[in-house]
Amino acid sequence: MESSGAADYIFKIVLTGDSGVGKSNLLSRFTRNEFSLESRSTIGVEFSTKEVQVDGKTIKVQIWDTAGQERFMAITKAYYRNAYGALLVFDILKASTFQNLDQWYSEVRANAGVDCCIILIGNKSDQRHIRAVMSDAAKKYADERNIKYIETSALDATNVEQAFRTLIQDIYKQFS
Ligand code: GDP
Ligand code: MG
Repeated sequence: MESSGAADYIFKIVLTGDSGVGKSNLLSRFTRNEFSLESRSTIGVEFSTKEVQVDGKTIKVQIWDTAGQERFMAITKAYYRNAYGALLVFDILKASTFQNLDQWYSEVRANAGVDCCIILIGNKSDQRHIRAVMSDAAKKYADERNIKYIETSALDATNVEQAFRTLIQDIYKQFS
């Protein structure tokens, strides 16, 4: 863990999961309280930072976001390098994004540190009346990998703050 300026710690967190699941909107909701109905594809890699207090410490989180298509590109290694945590995101309305989780999960495990904290996120809970992935199935997937499962909505902001905070607290517990 690095130390810098006013922050006691700096954590790098990555967002991962298929294109369209809501990664960029989760990031903008958390860091700027903004949501956009249009899907704007992330060009290459972007990151935003936010300071969060945990246990009286100031933690600066640097959150990396990417479009889903770069899966096979050379940036993969750099994207995950030194990541302390990852939000593994799927769309509860779209079964294929749940079925593709294994690839993303393996990619995190292969490229981030072995002790990288991961949380599974089922996004778009505001549309749960037309959901394609049941909470139980997602919970089971998470339990089998010993990770937590949280359902969020970047649109109405449900659990977004909580998802990031839970990850940050898990990282803090693990690395401090
Ligand atoms: P990314 O490709 O994973 O970064 O996904 P985006 O953040 O670009 O979102 C893809 C699309 O899903 C956009 O049209 C968003 O407006 C929409 N979206 C993202 N999050 C939510 C959500 O929580 N609920 C709903 N209903 N739509 C969402
Ligand atoms: Mg995006």
